[in-house]
Amino acid sequence: MSKINTVLGSISADQMGPTLMHEHMVLAYAGWDKDALCEHIELNDLAKIVADSLGMVKQYGIKTIVDATPNDLNRNVDLIKLVSERTGLNIICSTGMYMEEEGMPAYIKFRSQVHDTLTELYETFVQEITFGIGKSGVKAGVIKVATGNGHISPYEDRVLKAAARAQKETGVPIITHTQQGTMGPEQAALLTGEGVDPGKIVIGHMCGNANLQYQMAVLDKGVSIGFDRWGINFLFPDNLRKATLLGLLGLGFADRVVLSHDFSAKWLGRPYNLPDFVVQMIADWSYTHLFQNIIPQLKQAGITDEQIGLMVVENPRRIFGG
Ligand SMILES: [Zn+2]
Repeated sequence: MSKINTVLGSISADQMGPTLMHEHMVLAYAGWDKDALCEHIELNDLAKIVADSLGMVKQYGIKTIVDATPNDLNRNVDLIKLVSERTGLNIICSTGMYMEEEGMPAYIKFRSQVHDTLTELYETFVQEITFGIGKSGVKAGVIKVATGNGHISPYEDRVLKAAARAQKETGVPIITHTQQGTMGPEQAALLTGEGVDPGKIVIGHMCGNANLQYQMAVLDKGVSIGFDRWGINFLFPDNLRKATLLGLLGLGFADRVVLSHDFSAKWLGRPYNLPDFVVQMIADWSYTHLFQNIIPQLKQAGITDEQIGLMVVENPRRIFGG
């Protein structure tokens, strides 16, 4: 049986149990710590903030969290380890890169002028999955990739191809970020075209597009899809996420959908002062919104415990376990 890398060591797929497939502990855009007025929070204090918030999922039976933070959005394995120790939750962390517009280290951009950075990215992903991240001893258990709004840039194309090579070598799944409900079919075609087993691919943030033709164009490739942004109503309303999911479940796709929130307990940098209407729209966004609100509403609409079990337990186990 294949072993799954968590930040505290390997587990079997059967040990995963109920799983949230796309969350974050903290998020920060590159450069946040160069802002002279950024908040400085000690690692232990930060771990407490995250653990107090994330630990709430345990009352709903959740055992495993996939932290989808790529290398260039301030992935911090020391923090993730502390949170896992304090909560007792299995946490699977990522190797990978974010979309060019909001990620892409200048380092890779510069090296690309003279070096084969597709190979260098592939080597980084394999190194972090096989040997560990830096000197932490923590091995990544999933590869995260992303594309921009309505296009896949040449850099993002390289990241996806490097991820495909690393996936085929290591067997870990690939989970993706799609921007504003675009490029899902193109991501699925690119990754499967590079020879990645569709069973090992989750096209993420598919709940940001209510067009069933778009959904089917992705599902036709045999991949799984993430309805993984519940509660972010200023990007896309939960009601449309629900309507789209109900349509797909009605067509029998419960075995191809995974659920999550894309929540982060803390955004680093200067505190963000969001306009009141945005604060109101994301009032429910948390690590527990699915269990407090969405799943009860889906059940009211006729969705069965068996379908919920597929999306929360069986699909994550199959995607990670093979
Ligand atoms: Zn995310």
